[in-house]
Amino acid sequence: MSCQIQLQPSGHTFTADGNRTVLESALDVGLTLPHGCRSGVCGVCKSKILHGQADPGAYAEHALPAAEREAGHILLCCARPRSDLLLEVNGVEQSVENRPRQLHCRVSRLERLAEDVMLVELQLPASEHFAFRAGQYIDILLADDQRRSFSIANAPAKTGWLELHIRRIPGGLFTSHVFEGMKPRDILHIEGPHGSFWLREKNDKPIVMLGGGTGFAPLKGMLEHAIHLGLARPVTLYWGTRTPAGLYLHEMAKSWQSMLPKFRYIPVVSDISPDDGWTGRRGLVHEAVLADFTDLSQHEVYVCGAPPMVDAARHSFMHTRRLPTDAFYCDTFTFAARPVAKD
Ligand SMILES: Cc1cc2nc3c(=O)[nH]c(=O)nc-3n(C[C@H](O)[C@H](O)[C@H](O)COP(=O)(O)OP(=O)(O)OC[C@H]3O[C@@H](n4cnc5c(N)ncnc54)[C@H](O)[C@@H]3O)c2cc1C
Repeated sequence: MSCQIQLQPSGHTFTADGNRTVLESALDVGLTLPHGCRSGVCGVCKSKILHGQADPGAYAEHALPAAEREAGHILLCCARPRSDLLLEVNGVEQSVENRPRQLHCRVSRLERLAEDVMLVELQLPASEHFAFRAGQYIDILLADDQRRSFSIANAPAKTGWLELHIRRIPGGLFTSHVFEGMKPRDILHIEGPHGSFWLREKNDKPIVMLGGGTGFAPLKGMLEHAIHLGLARPVTLYWGTRTPAGLYLHEMAKSWQSMLPKFRYIPVVSDISPDDGWTGRRGLVHEAVLADFTDLSQHEVYVCGAPPMVDAARHSFMHTRRLPTDAFYCDTFTFAARPVAKD
């Protein structure tokens, strides 16, 4: 069954296959709708049905609470159309050049950046051009149809390889392998690029970036791209970690201050012990932004990291600092879904 989908307020229309999610059908025709994990966990692709019927699919309850579902919301990465649909979706972009595809890559470098963070560099096949936007992510494809998402930490101008910053998750299947078994020259099967978290380089508002832990990775890609472009907009990067050692590329972040004319770097550490000798900012990273900005109505904000940090930033910036909904971009580091099917 095919259905006509119309998006408001952009007015875009496309034909969707009833066997595929609304997001998949949109991406097929080169329309990027805001999205993150693509597995019903992060909630970034939440949209409201203004007219029509959809099968909501299987998703994590917290990403779409029952009250929101009853009010007509769906997750575009899970819902399949059951009729023509009129949907409310903000931030739609037309982009045909970076369609996701699958490749085999060789691990070319492994470097321990911190006790629980590994830099994994993947050599792309020489015969393939892998186009992506600064800040997007890839999926590593594993056995049994499992996949794990990791942000690309380098800029697109540096072609030929992809850099990933992988934090070890206790009990995690893939990240444990990265620390215990992975070796240079191993082959990984990847798919990408994915996501709608990229630097909006044509906008002109000052930028505030927040990274929690390895949430620094896509921001590094965006900042390297900004340096490549000679971006003249003011950019303030807040990097929040638990300990000073978690600021695993602190010197590099500091060095960007001499490469980007209006760049400021503010590291923020939450758990300080007297032995750390830390004299910088303390506390939660979104609270540091709240302390420094009384009004974000004329800014653009990029946030990446664990779900509680992203949620706290979104909620506090929009409700107490007048940040417009369409000026908040995020990737939420959720785990791969174990969703429960909904009726
Ligand atoms: C868009 C996106 C981008 C990301 N980018 C990055 C990045 O750049 N860097 C980064 O470090 N992370 C990133 N992440 C997070 C990363 O994808 C996860 O940390 C990773 O998937 C964990 O994989 P794993 O196989 O090690 O863990 P999993 O095996 O998926 O386990 C995750 C957790 O669930 C627990 N668990 C596993 N199985 C079960 C079960 N059956 N029942 C209950 N609990 C279980 C594990 O003990 C562990 O705590 C990103 C996530 C997303 C969505």
